Amino acid sequence: MSAEPHVAHNYSPLPVTAATAEGVWITGIDGARYLDCLGAYSAVNFGHRNPRIVAAAMEQLGRVTLTSRAFMSDRLEPFCAALAALCGKDMVLPMNTGAEAVESAVKVARKWGYDVKGVPDGQARIIVAGGNFHGRTTTIISFSDDDEARAGFGPYTPGFDRVPYGDIESLAAAITPDTVAVLVEPIQGEAGIIVPPDDYLPRLRALCTENNVLMIADEIQSGLGRTGTTFAVQHWGVTPDIFTLGKALGGGILPVSAVVADSHILGVLTPGTHGSTFGGNPLAAAVGHTVVDMLADGTWQARAADLGAHLHTRLREFIGHGVFAVRGKGLWAGIDIDPALGTGKQFCLRLADHGVLAKDTHGSTLRLAPPLVITHEEIDWVRDRFGEALRRA
Ligand SMILES: *Cc1c(COP(=O)(O)O)cnc(C)c1O
Repeated sequence: MSAEPHVAHNYSPLPVTAATAEGVWITGIDGARYLDCLGAYSAVNFGHRNPRIVAAAMEQLGRVTLTSRAFMSDRLEPFCAALAALCGKDMVLPMNTGAEAVESAVKVARKWGYDVKGVPDGQARIIVAGGNFHGRTTTIISFSDDDEARAGFGPYTPGFDRVPYGDIESLAAAITPDTVAVLVEPIQGEAGIIVPPDDYLPRLRALCTENNVLMIADEIQSGLGRTGTTFAVQHWGVTPDIFTLGKALGGGILPVSAVVADSHILGVLTPGTHGSTFGGNPLAAAVGHTVVDMLADGTWQARAADLGAHLHTRLREFIGHGVFAVRGKGLWAGIDIDPALGTGKQFCLRLADHGVLAKDTHGSTLRLAPPLVITHEEIDWVRDRFGEALRRA
């Protein structure tokens, strides 16, 4: 029987039950300590219970936590101003989960298509990439090619064209006068930390500009310091028209997401056309604003670049010794384990036995996204545990 019989079985967690956590460490109910190399899929970028973020949340808990957008709070405008500035844009639509941010960006792009670009009503199309992961709603899984995520949940939402990730020629060929947007992860997370060819995002940006198509960068997992820059697109000098953000924006405390763009795009939303009871609530705004402030001077990004280089150097030592490939940027790594050593899940179970928590993606690929507070010494410690787990295979 499942250890959690009353919890819907939509996950298959490792047999580790967290009781407390601090920084990169999680302590189980049995007292065992684990170094968290998943970081809640990059939602815990600043470490578990980051003191500055917890203090901001506590302070706001003592003031006001929820008003709904029916009234204003003194937290929302300052948060949105700071986040817009971080993105080099002038407007923010606050939401809660990543999937909601993507859904909202899809709605904004369609409405922009009709109101601004002049696409005939009901005809708007959005191009997406093969292997994408943008969330779990019915519309979002409609344009997924992951059968596990999709099968059995139809009928599916129309209006999407999928082309192979990294293939700019296919993308160019898919653009029609009815195309309103291209939605892409700058580095694909769930697909296994797939970094595109260097000319992909710059050429995608140019194609969008030439064809009056919005470029939507889903930076929900790749953004906010993870890859060594504020946003992954910056590795290629690219600026999208729309950012979707989430995960780390909530500081590891609560769901906070956002769509960020200029007002000539987000301005297509008028009162009543879109909303969210919890989106932009004072507690979320206080936490999100703290996260944005923490990213303002580049220290966290530089840390992710430095520690990430160290992590990649250490992991690459295993290539040819049970590891086929290591991919990624900054403190984000996809690792292909020799399938002869077992599935990714089996390898994660062995890693957990050695005190390291990680998560498989597909097949024999693992992904690491440790909190950015990890140290060089802790990375060396993870490398040693990784080596033990490989030898035990
Ligand atoms: C996690 C993720 C999402 C969905 O976020 P949720 O908060 O789980 O809804 C969307 N896009 C990307 C790239 C993600 O990694």
